[in-house]
Amino acid sequence: MSQAHTIAILPGDGIGPEVTAQAVRVIDALNERHSAAISYEQAPFGGAAYDLHGVPLPDTTLDLARRSDAILLGAIGGPKWESIERSLRPERGLLGIRSELNLFSNLRPAILYPELADASTLKPEIVSGLDIMIVRELTGGIYFGQPRAIEQTEQGERRGFNTLVYTEPEIRRIAHSAYTIAMQRDKRLCSVDKANVLESSELWREIVTDVGKAFPEVELSHMYIDNACMQLIRSPKQFDVLVTGNLFGDILSDAASMLTGSIGMLPSASLDENGKGMYEPVHGSAPDIAGKNMANPIATILSLAMLLRSSFERADLADIVESAVRSVLKSGMRTGDIAKPGEPTVSTSEMGDAILAAIPVATNSN
Ligand code: NAD
Repeated sequence: MSQAHTIAILPGDGIGPEVTAQAVRVIDALNERHSAAISYEQAPFGGAAYDLHGVPLPDTTLDLARRSDAILLGAIGGPKWESIERSLRPERGLLGIRSELNLFSNLRPAILYPELADASTLKPEIVSGLDIMIVRELTGGIYFGQPRAIEQTEQGERRGFNTLVYTEPEIRRIAHSAYTIAMQRDKRLCSVDKANVLESSELWREIVTDVGKAFPEVELSHMYIDNACMQLIRSPKQFDVLVTGNLFGDILSDAASMLTGSIGMLPSASLDENGKGMYEPVHGSAPDIAGKNMANPIATILSLAMLLRSSFERADLADIVESAVRSVLKSGMRTGDIAKPGEPTVSTSEMGDAILAAIPVATNSN
C-alpha cells in the first residue's frame, strides 16, 4: 500500500465547483482502481467563503491548507463580489493564501496537444508541438509592494499608485527554481524584464545572471517584456523556460495560454521552497458559463496530474491521468471552448465521465 496523502480541495466560485467535482471523481477512481491512498477534504474559499464567513480566506480554510500535503483550487471571483470592500474580495483570498503559504514559484506550462492544433488562433506550423514553461514569481513585485493606495491630493484630485519592488533573496529563489526546471527540460532559460527602464528589473537581470553560475549547462538569455510579448506570438517555439516577475508573468502566461487554443486546457502549480504546492487551472471562474455544466474540466484534471507528479512524486498516477485526457481528446470529444464551429460538444460532466472511463483498472492493484 502506498503512503497516504491528503489534498485540500478549495472549489471556490463560478465554474470552480463544477470543474473540481470532476477532478474529485478522478481521485476517487485512482483510489479505487490504483490504491492511490489519497484522502481529501473540501473548504470554502473566495466569494463562497465570504458569503458563509464574511471573509474570502477563513482561518479554518487556511488551517486545512496548511495541514494538507497539497491544495487543489478551482477558481474564485465573480460580479457578485466586485463591489464589496477591496480587502474582502475573493481575489484578496487568493493573494492571501499564496503569501501565507509562501507559494512564490508559479509554473504554467503551455503545451499544444496535437489533437487541438486547430483550436489555436495561430497557424498550425507556428504552434504545433509547442511545449513551453512559464515560471512566474508569485508573492512579490507590484501586486504586493507597499505603499499602495488611492488617495486624495492637496489639489483635490485622486491619485492611485502601487510599488514595484523585488529584493535580492526573492529574485534568487525564483531564479533558482527556474534554472532547476530548465535542467529537467531543454536547458534553455529566457529571463524577461524591463531593465532598460526599471531599476527593479536591473537588479533582477543581475541576480538571475549570477544564479546561473551554478547552472553552467543552462543557456541563459534576457528579453524585454515588450519584445517577449511579440516573440511569443511571432515564434513561440523558440522558448523552453521563461522566468519573470509577478505582473509580467501574469500577462505573458495568459497570452501563452491562447497559443494553445483554450484557457480551459491549462493547469498550473504554485510551489513553496519545499515543493508543497497549490494546483489550479489557469482560467478564472467564468461567470458567463457558470452553473450551465458547460465548462471544460481538463485544466483542473491536468492540475491534479501536476500535483500527483510534483508534490506526491507519483509520476505513475500522473501518467495515467494525462493519458486518459489524451485518449479522450483523440476520440474527438470536445467541450464548447475547444470545439470547431459546428462540431458537437459535450458537457462538463460528460467530459468527466469519458476521462473516468479512460482510467484503466490496475491489474496488480493491492
Ligand atoms: P475567465 O478565465 O474566468 O474567463 C475568460 C473566458 O474564458 C470566458 O469567456 C470563459 O467562459 C472562458 N473560460 C474560462 N474557463 C473556461 C473553462 N474551463 N471552460 C470553458 N471556457 C472557459 O476570466 P475573466 O472572465 O477575466 O474573469 C472572471 C472572474 O474570474 C473574475 O472575477 C476574475 O477576477 C476571476 N479570476 C479568477 C482567477 C483564479 O481563481 N485564479 C483567475 C483569473 C480570473
